[in-house]
Amino acid sequence: MKKIYWHNERFRIYQIKQLLDDNQIPNFIKNEFAIGAIGELSPLDAMPEVWLTDETWYDKATQLIAQFNLVPENTARWVCNQCQEENEGSFALCWNCGNSASTTANEL
Ligand SMILES: [Zn+2]
Repeated sequence: MKKIYWHNERFRIYQIKQLLDDNQIPNFIKNEFAIGAIGELSPLDAMPEVWLTDETWYDKATQLIAQFNLVPENTARWVCNQCQEENEGSFALCWNCGNSASTTANEL
């Protein structure tokens, strides 16, 4: 077994787990529920981690994770073409009027 990834943001851990799952790389999460225990454990001990069950996948997995981390997070802000409100890139729908981002060609 080998630790491949760790991050204090649990959604990042799930993203990496999903990435590995999608590529049929056997993996599991350690410390998934340990966050609440910070204070008793050192923060480093409590950080969620993604582990490979089989470390022969290590090179492939690091490569995938490196590529994954290169993809910019979806943070490009966009302007709704219906109400002209500005939206966070992570919003699929306009926060103001519910218009879909995909109908908006107006990326900033
Ligand atoms: Zn709108």
